[in-house]
This record gives sequence, structure tokens and C-alpha cells, in this order.
Amino acid sequence: MHGERKKWKWDHLTSPELNERAGDQPVVVLSIGSVEDHGPHCPMDLDNFIVRNICEAVGEAIPDEMLLLPHFPYGFETHHMDYPGTIDIRYDHLIETVADIGLSVARHGFRRMLIANGHGSNMPVLDLAARKINNHSDVLCAYFIWPVLDLDSIREHRTSKYPGGIAHAGELETSLYLHLNPDPVRMDLAKADYSFPKSQFIYHDLTGMGPVNFAPRHSMISGDGTVGDPTQATAEKGRLWFDACKSRFIDLIREFRIWKARDGEDHH
Ligand SMILES: [Zn+2]
Repeated sequence: MHGERKKWKWDHLTSPELNERAGDQPVVVLSIGSVEDHGPHCPMDLDNFIVRNICEAVGEAIPDEMLLLPHFPYGFETHHMDYPGTIDIRYDHLIETVADIGLSVARHGFRRMLIANGHGSNMPVLDLAARKINNHSDVLCAYFIWPVLDLDSIREHRTSKYPGGIAHAGELETSLYLHLNPDPVRMDLAKADYSFPKSQFIYHDLTGMGPVNFAPRHSMISGDGTVGDPTQATAEKGRLWFDACKSRFIDLIREFRIWKARDGEDHH
């Protein structure tokens, strides 16, 4: 392994050690992102880099309460393939792959699994994968995309327009990247893009989507790939939002670890 051995990383343990950890029932976390365009100003690893950093910060903070699986770096991207460099996993393959990971976790005796997502368009895929895991194992599996951990603080401190300023490579994601590693971010190339067609029903913003969902080919709603306003991004906002997400994720793990649902029952 690279670097220091971490007891909160699934694959840093030996198989007998992993077997023993099942006795404590830590929450198993799978992080997933994408390799996709993020405008001319951010590297294509943005979704992977941010979600993985949040998960690792939580692992360091509560090493006995979570177990972090190896990161899954590819997402559902068919609608982003107009942009060079994007890697697409077809949604049906991705559903089955994520479900297979969850069913493997179940086989080893773990009963709580969270999927921490960094890429918006993985959400419908994760919904179906989580349903498959819940329908076919004793694991309780839930999933989320990281900005929802911290909507209050994002809404309070954003300076971009709502809706639309925080959608793809906009104020939020660029701020977190600037906080975590400013070097690769080309703020000199960052440009606001509000070309998403205006509607009172259909709009995209990570802090609140419109009531009617339009699932477009990405180049229908953006020029250079950006949807939102990265010119409003700062490292300071990134630090604030990163810390708030980390703290809420710890709250989520602590609650979910002991959270219970009714046992499923066959009513035939
Ligand atoms: Zn992104």
C-alpha cells in the first residue's frame, strides 16, 4: 500500500482483521465519482478528488466507526462524451457493479453501508444499485451526494446566483478544489456560464433542483462544460464548506450505525 497503514481502510486490513471488524459493525462507506470534464479551469479528477478527501477526513476523525472501501473512480457519463477525456460506464453496468460491491460487503457480515457520491448523474444509478442491495441482502444501504450534507452553509455563503450558479464546476466545486489543492485550478480560465435555458420549472443547482427534471446531453446546457459561476469560488469558502460537510458526515455515520428499519416481511 502507499503510505501509512490505516485501520479505517477496508483493504489495508488482512482478511482475518477485516473479519474481526465485522463484530463492531462500523459503517462501510463506498466513495464514487467520475472522470469527466470540469470546464477549462478544473482537472477531470474533481469529483473523485473532493468526495475522496471528505471520506478520508472522516476516516481519520472516527477510525473505529467507519470502514472505507477502495474508491470507485468512474461514473455514468454518456451525456458528457462530447467533452474530451470523459470516461463513461454505461448505467446498466454501473448499477450491477455497485450492487456487486454491496452484496460482497453483505457476504462478509457488515450490515450498514453508505455510498458517498461526487458526481450528480450517478444518483439514479445509485438509487437502483442501493435498492438491489437492500432487496437482496441484510445490509441497509443508503446513498447521497456530498453537497446535501451542508446545504445551510452553502446557501448562506454562496455569492453566485440561485438557481444555476452551483451546478457543474461552478462556485461550490471550484471552491473545494481551491481549498484542497489550488495548484491545478486555472482561475484565469474560469468563466460563468448561465446558458441553461430559463424556466420556472426546469433548473439545475446542487442546492435545489427544479421540480421538473431535464436530463440533457451536457453540451445542450453549456459551452465550455461549466454550468454555474466558478469566478465566485474562493479557497476560504472551500474550507468552510469542506469542514461543514465533514462534520455532518460524522453525524450521519453515528446515526446510521445504530439506525434500524423494520425487518422485511413477506405478506404472501
Ligand atoms: Zn463535478
